[in-house]
Amino acid sequence: MTGTLEVDERTLLIQNSMYQYSRAIYRSIKDLVDPYVTSSTQVEYRRAVLEACEQTMERLARDPHYFARPERSLFQDVRRYFPITAQAQVAWAVDQGVTAAVSFIEEQIEAGAFDGGVPRCHATTRKGKPCQRTPLPDRDYCPSHQHLERTRVAA
Ligand SMILES: [Zn+2]
Repeated sequence: MTGTLEVDERTLLIQNSMYQYSRAIYRSIKDLVDPYVTSSTQVEYRRAVLEACEQTMERLARDPHYFARPERSLFQDVRRYFPITAQAQVAWAVDQGVTAAVSFIEEQIEAGAFDGGVPRCHATTRKGKPCQRTPLPDRDYCPSHQHLERTRVAA
């Protein structure tokens, strides 16, 4: 089992990494904000873009299992701050940045970072996602997947 200290260290690692991913996305698009607005408006736009990047990364770190299409979500949040001519480049940069963050989060999920000490069923659902249900006492699987345990024990 994973100790409390290890969980805390992993949480810090994830938070720090998500901050880096958020900054990387921001840096890749901040200079593309609408050039036809006043410089003070550009400052506001950049701040809004930075906040959207941070919020997306925070949400991704908080509940990665329930955040569908985060790259699309972030692009929808920020696209209004960029001119039409830059939209494709912004969409591409957001996609690259979020995909990198999602890969990192998926590695952390596989390493058990989001178990939070709460046992989870070891089965994979039909959609290929980890089952989120609580296993039966002293078992690795939930009631719906308990047949998997019997199979394994029998083998
Ligand atoms: Zn299950």
